[in-house]
Amino acid sequence: MNDHRDGPRDECGVFGIYAPEHDVARLAYFALFALQHRGQESAGIATAPRGGAIMAIRDQGLVSQVFDEHTLRSLVGDIAIGHVRYSTTGSSEWENAQPIVRDDHRTLALAHNGNLINAVQLHSELRDHDIPFRSTSDSEIIAALLATHPADRIEDAVADVLPRLKGAFSTVVMTEDAVVAFRDPHGIRPLALGMIEHPESGRAAYCVASESCAFDLIGARYLREVQPGEVVTLTERGIGTRLVSGAERHAFCVFEYIYFARPDSKMAGTVLQVARARMGELLWQEAPVEADLVIPVPDSGNAAARGLARAAGLPQDDGFIKNRYVARTFIQPGQELRRHGLRLKFNPLPEVVGGRRLVVVDDSIVRGNTTRQIVQMLREAGAAEVHLRISAPPIKHPCHYGIDMSTREEMIAHGRTVAEVAGELGADSLHYLSLAGVYEALRASRVDHCDACFSGEYPLAGTEEANGKYALESELPLVGA
Ligand code: SF4
Repeated sequence: MNDHRDGPRDECGVFGIYAPEHDVARLAYFALFALQHRGQESAGIATAPRGGAIMAIRDQGLVSQVFDEHTLRSLVGDIAIGHVRYSTTGSSEWENAQPIVRDDHRTLALAHNGNLINAVQLHSELRDHDIPFRSTSDSEIIAALLATHPADRIEDAVADVLPRLKGAFSTVVMTEDAVVAFRDPHGIRPLALGMIEHPESGRAAYCVASESCAFDLIGARYLREVQPGEVVTLTERGIGTRLVSGAERHAFCVFEYIYFARPDSKMAGTVLQVARARMGELLWQEAPVEADLVIPVPDSGNAAARGLARAAGLPQDDGFIKNRYVARTFIQPGQELRRHGLRLKFNPLPEVVGGRRLVVVDDSIVRGNTTRQIVQMLREAGAAEVHLRISAPPIKHPCHYGIDMSTREEMIAHGRTVAEVAGELGADSLHYLSLAGVYEALRASRVDHCDACFSGEYPLAGTEEANGKYALESELPLVGA
C-alpha cells in the first residue's frame, strides 16, 4: 500500500569516499539521503580507518530509519561507502541489504547498482570452487570474485574481474586502505566523480556517487562521470584511473534522464530538470490539443508540465495536492478506506479542474493502474476533458539491467495501439513523446544510449536469453540491485 506509483521502480544508489580529516560516515549518510529516491527498501554504510577493520551497518528501511546519531558515531574511519536499495525481484531480506562485506583472501565491502546477465554462470563457477554465499544478490557474486582474487592490490583484482562481468554495474568497493569505483563497459547505470575540500586545511579529497545531487548536499564539487569501463582508485596517494575494458558502443540508460534520476542531478553535462522541461515542449509540438489548463501528476510530471505549458501558452496549476508523507505510513487503510485508493497520495482539487479541458502530464506509464485512477479522480472532480501527455515513449519491454519494469504482459502498451491504451485509461486523448523527441530534448545521440524498454533493442547480445536461463537455473532467485 505504500507504493502507489505503478511506473518503473527505482533501482539502487551508491556512494564512496576516501577522505581522512572528514567525518566520512556522516558524509555518506547525507549523500545517501540525497540518493534516497533510488531505493527505499534498505540502506547501509561501511567505514574503515586507514589500515583498520571494516565496520558496516545496514538494515531494511529509509536512510533516516536505519541510522541515528548513535549508529553514525560508531562508524569511525577515513574511508566509507554506502548504498540505498530497491530490490528488483521482490526479495528484500536483510541479507540482500548492502554494502556486502566479505572476508576471503581479502576483506572488502561492496555496493552495486545494476544487474549481471551472466550471474548464473559466475555463481556456479564460484560454487564449484566451494565459495559460500550468504545472500541471493548478484552483487555478492562481484564481491566474492574480488574478495577471493589473489592479486595484492584491489585495483588489480578489479581490472582482472571487470571483463568477466556482463550486464550493468556501477560499483563501489572498499578495502582497509582504498575505495575503488568502476562502471560496466557500456556505462548503463550512472556513476559520477566529485571532489571535496576540507573547510580548514583546504586539502582535496575525492568521492563517487550515482548522481551529482549527492555531491551538492555534502559540499562536494562534481568533476565528471566515471567513464564506461573505467576503474577509479581513491587512496592516500590521491586519485588513480585506468580504462580497463571498452565496449563497441556505450549504452547509458535513457530512462535515467526521463524519470529515475533526481531533477537537480547533472548527467553527461545535462541538468535533468532542464532536459525534462524540453521534453514537455516537444510533447506539445508533437501533439497539441484544444485545452484550458495544464496539470502535472506530482512530482514525476512537474518539469515536463512546465515545459509543455510554456510551449502551449496555456496556464498551469496544481490539479492534485500530494501527501508527501505517504511513504511513512505503515497502517493499512482497511476495507472501508480502500476504495479511496490513490487519494491517500493524491487529492484532486475540484475548484481547479472542474469544468476545464485538462492536459495531464506524467513521465511514464507501465501497467496503467495509477493513471487509470488519476483520470477517474479528475472526472469525478468535474474535469470536462482529460488529455494525457506522457514524456516517454510507450514501455513495451522489460529491463534486464537493474530496473523493475514488470513483465511484458503486465505492460499496458504491450500489444495495444495508443488509441487502445487511451481507451483502457478512460482518457479523451493520449500521446507519448517519440523516441526521436526524447533524444532531441537531450540533445544527445541515440547511438550512445540504451532505450530497450521502448525499442526492444537490447545493447548487450543475448540479454533476454541470459536472463531467462538465469531465472531457471538459480537455486534461489538471484536479485539485482
Ligand atoms: S531497458 Fe530501459 S530502463 Fe533498462 S537500462 Fe535500458 S533504457 Fe534503462
